[in-house]
Amino acid sequence: MSLLSVGTVAFDTIETPTGKADMVIGGAATYISWAASYLTRPTQIVSIIGDDFPNEELEALNARGVDTSGILCVEGGKSFYWAGKYHDNMIGRDTLVTDLNVLADFDPVLPEAYKSSEYLMLGNLTPDIQRSVIQQMTVKPKVVALDTMDFWMNIAWDSLMETIKLVDILIINDEEARQMSGHHSLVRAANHILTLGPRYLVIKKGEHGALLFGDGRVFFAPGLPLLDVIDPTGAGDTFAGGFMGHIARTGDLSFENMRRGIIYGSVMASFCVEAFGLTRLKTVTDDDIESRYAEFKELVHF
Ligand code: AMP
Repeated sequence: MSLLSVGTVAFDTIETPTGKADMVIGGAATYISWAASYLTRPTQIVSIIGDDFPNEELEALNARGVDTSGILCVEGGKSFYWAGKYHDNMIGRDTLVTDLNVLADFDPVLPEAYKSSEYLMLGNLTPDIQRSVIQQMTVKPKVVALDTMDFWMNIAWDSLMETIKLVDILIINDEEARQMSGHHSLVRAANHILTLGPRYLVIKKGEHGALLFGDGRVFFAPGLPLLDVIDPTGAGDTFAGGFMGHIARTGDLSFENMRRGIIYGSVMASFCVEAFGLTRLKTVTDDDIESRYAEFKELVHF
């Protein structure tokens, strides 16, 4: 069933202890859509790019069934650019450059055909823009999921609170959950956040897996122990794409099915970190996905 993703489509320069990748394709909506494309169709993207963005990257998404006609291309404009450098532990990172470029004037207008998408994944963007997208939907989506970050909590708290009232599933990391709630305990943090609007809360813990809270229940999935992590960039967005891709393809909003969604999200994220940028995500096969899903089952079954 149709999944609409909204977020950045970008150029990234990434430095990790294992190497460097200059000006590779990135952006939250890019990672979300690549991951989701293996699980559900059709998917759509709403974003903004400059005319420096390579057309073959859009064609590669189209070939995977991703409709990119909602990506506005600004003639003479430059695409969003982000550069980051990871610490030796591959968890912490410093942002070296954030050039908003065309994103500075992003005011998305949803194409008519997208206004009835049944599943909506709002990637990390200003909460005003995220809310404006929800408000443009003419048919209430079955699920609205949202990602955000510390930056928006610091500078746009009120708008963020207004926006998450309209959201079914909030997908954030452990530090963001602590900041949003003012509680260190993730259980207390979840109890608090679930009073702010969302029915479910997913807390990502990087290589340590993810937690799902909702309906008075908790589920935990570990991270798959991997031989090598080459580049964690986009893993959180890839997780969200895998999770929402599974929810959209099944249309099943039960807690049991969300648990499977958490595993599919973790599976897709485990591919993402195996190479720089989108490199590994672009070569995944359905067999790869199902055999890694089985590895997860084996890992946690006792
Ligand atoms: P993640 O590693 O999940 O945080 O996602 C990294 C991706 O987010 C990169 O591909 C960046 O292009 C994109 N990104 C970095 N900073 C921002 C920002 N402030 N707003 C939106 N997207 C961003």
